Amino acid sequence: MSIPLITEQSAAFARGSVPPARQVADGVWSIPVPLTGSPLVSMFMYLVETPGGLVLVDAGFDAEDAWQALLAGLRAAGAAPSEVAATVLTHNHPDHIGLADRLRAEGGAAVAIHPLDCFATQRAVRGGFLDQLERTLLRAGVPDADRAPMLRSARRLAAHSESLVPDLLLTEGDAVGGTLQVLHTPGHTYGHISLRDHRRGLLFTGDLLMPTGEPQLAPASLPADDPGADLAASLDRIAGLRADLVLPGHQYPIADHARRARAVLTAHRARLAEVTGAAARAGTAWEIAALLSWPRPWPDMGTTAKRFAVVQTLGLLRALQRGGVVPASTQTGSS
Ligand SMILES: [Zn+2]
Ligand SMILES: [Zn+2]
Repeated sequence: MSIPLITEQSAAFARGSVPPARQVADGVWSIPVPLTGSPLVSMFMYLVETPGGLVLVDAGFDAEDAWQALLAGLRAAGAAPSEVAATVLTHNHPDHIGLADRLRAEGGAAVAIHPLDCFATQRAVRGGFLDQLERTLLRAGVPDADRAPMLRSARRLAAHSESLVPDLLLTEGDAVGGTLQVLHTPGHTYGHISLRDHRRGLLFTGDLLMPTGEPQLAPASLPADDPGADLAASLDRIAGLRADLVLPGHQYPIADHARRARAVLTAHRARLAEVTGAAARAGTAWEIAALLSWPRPWPDMGTTAKRFAVVQTLGLLRALQRGGVVPASTQTGSS
């Protein structure tokens, strides 16, 4: 099943289209939902039969087309919304939690997430998304004239999601439905989890490991944050796990996840070396970001792309500084 699945879903990703819902293993269905306007094209929810009932891994984006895709996917699996016992969220980004509230309201599915990605906890520890972003951009030395539009463009996302209240908190070692083992795999967010289905040889990796691209780091908004080191440790851990198939939140499934995780780690180390070189010629994360390679040249990048880039650069700088590679005089906001 895995090779036709990968062929079908990688072809859909290459075409920029959303593949159909389909069964990917005995008792497991892939339910793609559209992410209209995003280069990621789609987001994958997974419906998993467990001894504790049906579990939905992630909950798409809060949009009507995504809701209809969820209903169609449940129908394809022969399930009604009221039969989903729990929605487990790999992390708290809007494209993963969007329909959790609606599914709970319409069918009763309990919502579960790691405590560090629970919005109430997060607000208490690090503030809301916009607070975190503003602090991160300030730490990165983004000038006022660039910071204001970045915050404006992020406001729509922040308004979206931060009211979700979970019913259950999941931590390392918990077993969802009796069989889905929770692995705390931070880096993309501080409370990101992956789920391991030993019996079926499956690993659900959310936004930690995808078949292409550089994983996005969490904003380093607090002095002790080191999302780059978190990410490297999580990838290293994933690389050491046995699984027949990795099912990520976007793009398409991965057959040889250990190889892919090691490739991402190698690229991450190369990125750190690139940042080291740029840090010798620039002072702030904002200035360094402009010297790094991105999918498009820096002058052609829009506000959102630059926002992602500078958050990423600050995370990489933090990892370097904590590893003792970058002079402490470089501004990463750790003082
Ligand atoms: Zn994400
Ligand atoms: Zn995502």
